Amino acid sequence: MNELKEILIFYSEMGAEFLHLPEKDPRADLAELNRQILQCHQCRLHESKTHYVPGEGGSRPDIIFIGEGPGQTEDQFGRPFIGNAGQLLDKIIDKMGYHREDVFIGNVVKCRPPNNREPLPDEVQACLPYLLRQIELLAPRVIVCLGRVALNNLLGTSHTMGRIRGQQLSFNRIPVIATYHPSYILHKKEKEEISQAKREVWEDMQKVLSLIAGQRH
Ligand code: URA
Repeated sequence: MNELKEILIFYSEMGAEFLHLPEKDPRADLAELNRQILQCHQCRLHESKTHYVPGEGGSRPDIIFIGEGPGQTEDQFGRPFIGNAGQLLDKIIDKMGYHREDVFIGNVVKCRPPNNREPLPDEVQACLPYLLRQIELLAPRVIVCLGRVALNNLLGTSHTMGRIRGQQLSFNRIPVIATYHPSYILHKKEKEEISQAKREVWEDMQKVLSLIAGQRH
């Protein structure tokens, strides 16, 4: 402690006004958090799941993508967004100029709700602290909420996606952009509706990219 004090006095006598300390590497804390998630019994969802799906990606990502909860394929393999919706998300990420491994992909709940139902309020309440800790450790430049469930559970709001998508919101001073869940696009039947939804998602992702570019200057 005394040593640190002496170093600080030295730099301040040299006229330094700011001292940029290297940011702490979050990987050990993330690994510990994963261990906790993989043993979680905080709600009923652990009983029906096959695998926990803690989330995955880079440890210093520009972007965190947040979905609702694992689906059948994710439950089977313990990885987020690897089914049909995940393949569409991968394309979006690629088009943004990133690789899946560079960003972080997670969910509001870490176990699959039976029959892909929406997570219940007590399940979200039990699981949300894991997501909040992930956000704190990963410190992304932008959070992208995929769909209404991710957005409203993160922010404690009750927005409809049609009204709120693409607007800049914020969570603990991190910009948040909400866009359609990839499944919403996949469930559309009409070609024109699909193209329109894809166009809107791309508009939202361009906002994400410009927020990131703005933070680099
Ligand atoms: N849908 C989600 O919301 N999350 C996943 O991980 C997969 C599909």
